[in-house]
Amino acid sequence: MKCSSAMEKLPPYLFARIEKKIEEARARGVDVISLGIGDPDTPTPAHIVGAMARAIANPANHQYPSSVGMLSFRQAVARWFAARFGVALDPATEIVSLMGSKEGIAHMSFCFLEPGALSLVPDPGYPVYEIGALLAGAEVHLMPLREEHGFLPRLEDIPTEAARRARLLWLNYPNNPTGAPADRKFFSDVVAFARDFDVLVCHDHAYSEIYFDGQRPLSFLEVEGARRVGIEFHSLSKSFNMTGWRIGWACGNPDAVDVLTRFKSNVDSGVFQAVQEAAIAALEGPQACVEDMRRLYQSRRDIVVEGLRRMGWRVQPPRGAIYVWAPVPAGFDSASFAEHVLDQAGVIVTPGSGYGKHGEGYFRIALTVGAERMREALGRMQAALGTVRF
Ligand SMILES: *Cc1c(COP(=O)(O)O)cnc(C)c1O
Repeated sequence: MKCSSAMEKLPPYLFARIEKKIEEARARGVDVISLGIGDPDTPTPAHIVGAMARAIANPANHQYPSSVGMLSFRQAVARWFAARFGVALDPATEIVSLMGSKEGIAHMSFCFLEPGALSLVPDPGYPVYEIGALLAGAEVHLMPLREEHGFLPRLEDIPTEAARRARLLWLNYPNNPTGAPADRKFFSDVVAFARDFDVLVCHDHAYSEIYFDGQRPLSFLEVEGARRVGIEFHSLSKSFNMTGWRIGWACGNPDAVDVLTRFKSNVDSGVFQAVQEAAIAALEGPQACVEDMRRLYQSRRDIVVEGLRRMGWRVQPPRGAIYVWAPVPAGFDSASFAEHVLDQAGVIVTPGSGYGKHGEGYFRIALTVGAERMREALGRMQAALGTVRF
C-alpha cells in the first residue's frame, strides 16, 4: 500500500502522543491530572439537549441534509451575528454550515491552495491551518507570534515574495494557544494587507464567546472592508459545550462561502438536521449558560495564574479562550518541562513546541478541569518544582 507523499510527510498528531503518555502513567498507577486537552468538561446545556431529543424524533430529519445547511439554521446564525457583532449577513449567500469548524478550516486549503501556492500561518497556532496546506500540496510561510508584539503577527515582516504567492492568511483571536486578543487597528491593517496582496483572510473565531473581564472580542467582519477580503469560522463547540456534536459555520465573503460550499457538496452531505435544530436552540435560547461558562473559566484562570505566580512565574492572565500560556523555567525546553511535570507531579501540560517552532520555550495549561483538581495539580507542581527561575 502506498499513501500520498503529503500523508507521509504529516507530523504525528500532537494529542495522540500526549494520550499515549497519559495511558502509560495511569498504567503505572499515577493519578494523572490532565491539563492538556482543550475539550470543555461540563455538559451541553439541558435546553439544547432537549431540542436535539425532540428533533431526532422527526422523520423529516432522518434524510440527507444539504451541505450548505438548513435555511432556518443560517437565519438563526444571521440573527445571532447581528445581535452579537452588529454585522448583517445574508443567510442565502454569506453563511455555510460546517461539521465543526475544523472541517471547514481544513477544507479551505483544498479550495484555495495547490502546489506553488502558499498559506500564511501563525506560529504557534492551531495545527490544522498548516496541515491543511500540506495536504493540499501547498507551502506555508510561518508568521511568528511573539509575546513582545502581543502575540500578533507583524505583517511588515512577511517577505514580499511570500505575500505575493499567498492565497490564504490565517488568524485566530482570542488565540489558541496564547489567549491573546486582537484589536480593531490590527484587523484594519490586515484588511489593507489582504487588499494589497490579494489574499483571503481566514479568521478562526472558535473562542468568540470565551472572553474574560467583560472585554468582548470583535468579529473580523466588523472592520471596514473586511467582507471584501475575509471569511470567518465559528463553532458551537466551545461557546455551548458542544464539541462532540460537530457543528459550526463559515461566514463572510460570498465568493469564498460559495467556493467552500461547492467543495463540501462534493465531499460531505452536511450536518445531521437534528444537530442543526439543536444549534438553533443554542443560538436563540437563553444565553445565561454562556455567561456561566465564562465565569467558570475565568475563576479557573485566576486559580492557575495565582498558583503559577506563587511559584515565581510572571505570567499574564489570558484575555480569552481556555488556556494559560506560560514560559518554561530555565534549564528546560518545552518537551523536557512537560515530561518533568508528568514524572514529578503526575500533571499533563502541553509542550508549546507542539503548536509550532515559535511555541518552543512555552507550555500550555487548558482550563478544562474543575477548581479542586486544578488546585491539586498546582499544589503538586509547586511541591515538585519549588520556586522556578527563568
Ligand atoms: C477547538 C478549536 C476549533 C475547532 O472547533 P470545532 O468546531 O469543534 O471543529 C477551531 N479552532 C481552534 C483554534 C480551536 O481551538
